Amino acid sequence: MKSYINTKETDMKFTDFNLKSTIQQAIDEAGFKEPSPVQKEAIPLILEGNDIIAQAQTGTGKTAAFGLPIMDQMKADGSVEGLVIVPTRELAMQVSDELYRFGKYAGLKTATVYGGTAYAKQIERVKQASIVVATPGRLQDLLMSGKIKITPRFVVLDEADEMLDMGFLDEIKNIFTFLPKERQTLMFSATMPKGIRKLAEQILHKPKTISITKTESTNTNIAQHYYVVQERERDDALVRLIDFKNPAKSIIFCRMKKEVDRLVSHLTSQGFKVSGLHGDMEQKQREVTIRGFKQGGIDIFVATDVAARGLDVNDVTHVFNYHIPFDSESYVHRIGRTGRAGKTGEAITLVTPAELRTIKKIEKDVGTKLLTQVIPTRQEVQNSKSDELIAAIAGTQITENAINLVKTLQHDLDIVTIAHLLASRLQESQNIKGKENIGLGLEEIELLIERTMRGRGNDRGRGGYRKSGGSNRNSRNRRNSQGGSRHRGRRNSKPRRD
Ligand code: ADP
Ligand code: MG
Repeated sequence: MKSYINTKETDMKFTDFNLKSTIQQAIDEAGFKEPSPVQKEAIPLILEGNDIIAQAQTGTGKTAAFGLPIMDQMKADGSVEGLVIVPTRELAMQVSDELYRFGKYAGLKTATVYGGTAYAKQIERVKQASIVVATPGRLQDLLMSGKIKITPRFVVLDEADEMLDMGFLDEIKNIFTFLPKERQTLMFSATMPKGIRKLAEQILHKPKTISITKTESTNTNIAQHYYVVQERERDDALVRLIDFKNPAKSIIFCRMKKEVDRLVSHLTSQGFKVSGLHGDMEQKQREVTIRGFKQGGIDIFVATDVAARGLDVNDVTHVFNYHIPFDSESYVHRIGRTGRAGKTGEAITLVTPAELRTIKKIEKDVGTKLLTQVIPTRQEVQNSKSDELIAAIAGTQITENAINLVKTLQHDLDIVTIAHLLASRLQESQNIKGKENIGLGLEEIELLIERTMRGRGNDRGRGGYRKSGGSNRNSRNRRNSQGGSRHRGRRNSKPRRD
């Protein structure tokens, strides 16, 4: 089920909102047909003049959910009528672009305000804009120094949870002291931790709550699964999965900057087109890197959570969690980098036996069951590569040089031998790395989960699967393999309770 299409029984259209024709024209031009769930709920409430607090996952169309109804009510009289506060510079630019797109036929200009660049140009733009999209730091600067004076009727906090995570609470509170009391305030957040609710109480007036239920809020376009590996197998597992999935564009998440750097050089040495993204990068360098990723040239991004905040690249096909995130919120944010704009995506998480408890908690918090999978063997990857190779060969143009090459070879060899040699040569270039089996089999994982959920120590499990896993592929999947039944027996005969 796509997130924007057929999400509800009702067949609602954008025209049902009766927006101004100039706004509707922009919606048509953007190719939006049906409003997303959060748009269906938020747009009428905002048009009625309510404050709202809305929870919905990333990639569910929140920008249009607040942008369309506020722009519909704007006069384009040369004053700043709307203020949108977002956590990062990238998001400011993205949101600003999207709002510009919706408002251009209505004569609504946008200005973008963020740190790290000169003041003058931004101030100039603000003076001509109907909508200001700003990051908290620079906005607070401009307001406190009196460099800009604005009285917006509409104030939006976008990605509010991320702003609090990034430590912007004081700035936000301070900014509100400069804003008119008579205003409509809209708060959007992917998650609703306590801090967000508290802030909402302070800045919102009788808000209507919108919560796109968990299953709707976790984008159903994203296939989510996890693989269980030993700590030392992470790199091999990652390379094998990339080889197997052959992702067009992917992001690999790590916990630390150090890990980002290490993985970038490791994957580069394996021949992948990789780039790292972490918090310490200079803004310019960061932009160049992101552009490289958006336009091709770089297929894989290795990033920390902070660095990937607000990153909106529309066609990320795969998100890899090299390390499981620290909490469920980060998990939601991470996987939200794929499956955007109604496209499908895949989120893959590597966990060690000791981390199974965390993955179970994430499943519970997020309200989705993740699929357990076994890492393909070298042979399996080889087979799938062979299929690709066959397709590629079938689609190749025969060249003059190739004909001459075969003629030369035919002096000494028969044609079948030549074909075999060439095929071997081609396969060699595919070179699937690593050992045959990586990670745990399904049965071992099931067993471990059972133990984990019963509160048994992971150490007991560890001895067991080492013996049963490993070289014999069959033992990885068959329920009644020797290893499995032996452990079942032992567990039953010696019940433990803590
Ligand atoms: P969020 O803020 O919830 O993360 P965005 O507002 O950035 O999501 O929207 C994600 C993508 O989906 C954008 O590229 C946007 O243009 C697109 N989009 C939003 N609403 C719709 C819609 N109703 N139909 C099709 N595409 C949409
Ligand atoms: Mg957004």
